[in-house]
Amino acid sequence: MYERGYVVSSDGNVSVRLDDGRIVATPTQVNKGRMTEEMLALTDAEGRALSDRRASSELAMHLLIYRERADVKSVCHAHPPHGSAFAVAGLAIDQPILSEVILTLGCVPLAAYGTPSTEELTDAMRPLVKHHNALLMANHGAVAYGADLWQAFDRLETLEHTAKIAILSRALGGARNLPPDSIEKLIDIREQAGYLDERARCQACGYLHETRVTCATGDRPPPPQTASRAATNGAGKISLTREELVELLVEAARTQRIS
Ligand SMILES: [Zn+2]
Repeated sequence: MYERGYVVSSDGNVSVRLDDGRIVATPTQVNKGRMTEEMLALTDAEGRALSDRRASSELAMHLLIYRERADVKSVCHAHPPHGSAFAVAGLAIDQPILSEVILTLGCVPLAAYGTPSTEELTDAMRPLVKHHNALLMANHGAVAYGADLWQAFDRLETLEHTAKIAILSRALGGARNLPPDSIEKLIDIREQAGYLDERARCQACGYLHETRVTCATGDRPPPPQTASRAATNGAGKISLTREELVELLVEAARTQRIS
């Protein structure tokens, strides 16, 4: 994570859940680029120390994910610049722009801001954890998780790569979303191949809205986190920056072309 620039200084943390339920976690206040194996902390399933090393102060976020997802054995939390830029802008990574990402990661919702290492943060994340394999945390960063350490890391890498491509495509005039029938086919493939199961259908964000794919789990996804991009001045007035206005007009022109 350090070499890829996903964390600087003592940012970020990684953990693995062992078969006996104990957690191996990166220690608090250590630069991950200089961390060595003997610095790792060991805790029980509730995060109580089983070694001299103190685990990351953000271990509660990891424990929440392990509690909500029996299938998850590893969690990677970082502040990758492009993904974190989405989190700072108040945006989810939820547009169906890349086929491989729909197959392997699904959309990445944005959890509302919560103070790191407090219940505010875990409460905001809880409703999203079951249906997604990676989350953004508003004004903070990203977390990804999986069946082992490499799957968790690879998902973090896919999240960051997708965010980067989304930002670059805006500079080229804006991304074009895949059409609903292509999304339906991708969801069929990912479920048949076992990349993601039906839980990933229940999504807080944009993939399924125009498709015929429905959520079979019966859970209602939480309402989407919409970004308040423009400042409200009261009396129903809004003010936009020049950039935001241009973006709106481009978007409107594109919708016109499609319909
Ligand atoms: Zn963090």
